[in-house]
This record gives sequence, C-alpha cells and structure tokens, in this order.
Amino acid sequence: MSDGINQFVNACEVVDVHEHHMPEVALSRDVNLLKLFQQSYAAWTNYVLPSEPKATSSMISAATEPTTWEALAPFLEKSGSNAFVRNLVGGIADLYGVGDNGITRENWEAVDASVRLRHKDPKWPIEVIGRAAIKRIVTDPFLDPLLDPRPVLGERYDAVLRINAFALGWHAESRDHNGNSGHTLLGRLGMEVKTFDDYCAAIRELVAGCAGRNQIALKNALAYDRDLSFDEPNEELARQAWGQMSPSPGARKAFSDFVVDLFCQLAAEADLPVQTHLGTAIISGSHPLRIAPLIERHPRTRFLLMHLAYPWSRDLLGMAFVYRNVWLDLCWSFLLSPSHFKLALHEAIEVLPDESRLMLGGDCLHVEETFAAIQSARQLVGEVLDEKIASGYFRSRNAERLAVRILCENATEFFAMS
Ligand SMILES: [Zn+2]
Repeated sequence: MSDGINQFVNACEVVDVHEHHMPEVALSRDVNLLKLFQQSYAAWTNYVLPSEPKATSSMISAATEPTTWEALAPFLEKSGSNAFVRNLVGGIADLYGVGDNGITRENWEAVDASVRLRHKDPKWPIEVIGRAAIKRIVTDPFLDPLLDPRPVLGERYDAVLRINAFALGWHAESRDHNGNSGHTLLGRLGMEVKTFDDYCAAIRELVAGCAGRNQIALKNALAYDRDLSFDEPNEELARQAWGQMSPSPGARKAFSDFVVDLFCQLAAEADLPVQTHLGTAIISGSHPLRIAPLIERHPRTRFLLMHLAYPWSRDLLGMAFVYRNVWLDLCWSFLLSPSHFKLALHEAIEVLPDESRLMLGGDCLHVEETFAAIQSARQLVGEVLDEKIASGYFRSRNAERLAVRILCENATEFFAMS
C-alpha cells in the first residue's frame, strides 16, 4: 500500500456501528487468554447452527477455566488457518506486545498473565478502544435488550433495541434464541399486557421510549430465529397465535410478520433506523432478497443491512443499488473473509448510488477482538482505496473523502449523533 492513503486511513477516527459490548463481558475482571478465544468468533470454528446462538449465551455465563496450551491449540493449530483466528491472534499480539510469531507454546503463559492483569484494571477496555481510535460505539447488548449503555459502559456508547423477543411474543413464556421473553421485558417497563391490542400498544410505547434509553436504532436479528420472508401483515391470523403456547406454524409466522411490520412502521415514524442481520445464521432462510418485500412496503424506513449478507454480497449490492432506503454495515464480513471483503468493497464503491451508504463495525464481545477488527478494517479499506487509485478509478483526494465517509461521517449522519 502507498504510504499516503495508508497513513490517512490509520489516522481516521472510527464510528463503530455494531458491537456486542455488554457489562457481563466488557466489565468482567475474570478474563484470561483462553476466554478471549472462547468468547470470540474463533470459537465459531466449532459451532453447528442453529444451536450456536444458544451456545453463545451460555458460553458468556460459563466459569473461567485456566488457560492451558492443550486448550489453546485447537484454536491456534487445528483452526490456525481460519480468518477469525488470524484476526484475533493479530490483535492480541499487537495489544500485548507479543511480536511477529504470535501466540506460541513458548510465550502463551506470559501472554495469559498479561491478559489477566490487564482485565483487573477497569480502565483497560477504554484504553483499548482509545488505541483503536474509536470515538463512538453502537452496541447490541443481546443479554438485555432494554439496556441503557451509558451509565455502565460510558458516554461514547449508544445501543440498539433488539426486537426478536417481541416478534416471538405470542405467549408470556415464548422466548427468542437468546432466552429473552418479550412479556418479561415489557413487564420491566411497567407495561401489563393482557390482550393482543395491549401488546401492540406496548410495542408503540417501547419504541417511543428508545431515546430515553440511548437506543438509536432497532435491531432485527430474526435470522437466528426464523426465515426472513416477512409477508404482508395478516392481522386475523396473527391474532390466532396470541396466548398460545404452541401456535400453528402459520399463526406463529403471521404473528412475527405482523410485529416486525409494526416495528418498521414505528421506526419510520420515530426516524429510527432498522439494523438487520442478513446471511449465514439459519442459512436456509437468510438470503437478502427474502426481505425485499419488507423494504418495499416501508419506503420511509431506513434499513441498515449487515455483514454483506455473506455469502450473497452481490445480491445485496443489487438491492442497495435499487432501493434508496438501504444502507450497508460491513461489520463481520471482513472478519469472515478478508479477500471476499476486498472484492465486494471494490464492487460496492462502483455500484452504490452515493458515498453515504457504507459504514462499519466490529461485531465483537471483547475489546481485544474489536481492536483487531477495526484495525483490520482500516488495513483492508486502505488496500482497496489504494488499488482504486493505482488503477486510475479515482484520485487520492476522492479516496480520502470516501475513507472518512466509510469510517466515520456516514454513521454520524445516519444515526444523527450529536
Ligand atoms: Zn452482531
């Protein structure tokens, strides 16, 4: 990479539009080197969908086991070629001054001791965020969809309201893949829900309360709970699910279709964007074109579509070309495959209708992985822009303007951050 754009991108501050920082993990004082791997995407080298997200929740509450070489080797050696592992090893090596050989049989004990020591210091997460030059963070604290992040995580945080539990809330006992019950969450806000109409009114009140909880967007992660074909609302069928422990598949789907449609309508009224997970998850139902009808039904709702809808990034770019209410959050895609990310970013720059459409996040639990993710993003965005300059597509000043937009300005505008 030429020094010019490299230096420029490395000096850019980042507004990080997606993390999973939450007090249970980010503020834990009981973190060692093994835990950084177990609570990272490196652990996804072992998962089988759709059970994985449940495993994620229980893995967060699991006790810390001592780090051993035998426990680290499956990540570092058996899955050593995987991009999630490469990313995390690179970030840890950088932050803990490990050197070019990364984490080895010879140095792992010293690295482990440093990780444990650093995590005893309450200022460590802020220090790491500062070293990554991240000025604002939008977090999705999925263990508590009602969390106001500022009192616990600090002033640089805003949150999203994850809608999964509410979209599946046909019964007080029904829960989403994270174990959250919509009825319990509404109860915490003092809302008593007896009828379907009470429930719809409560959802209106829930969205109206977002600003008071520093929640600046809604988050649709239903790709982990169901397919993404959100049909036209069928209120009569949706009502049939109400109060049922085990509604028929048709009524269950109609209920969540109806509630998702209501959230999209309320998001437009409140001018809150809707972050939406696309690709992977329950992969048979997560193709981006499945949500095209929802996007078309809600032209005033701003959709922030995530992860380059991997592996269907070209289909997603086609949608972003056609729909003017679509923006793209590149988070996670560059952790999954840096080389596919570069290919897709080259195309995105060419296809998207204007420079406002791209933003990025890390999508991580621990700040070490966030640091690694954001540094990787800088590197890859810099490489793509450098290649665009070298091929004569545009000049350095165009590349610099676009870099600032992707790393920072687009998110600030999109979320109306003050
Ligand atoms: Zn995420």
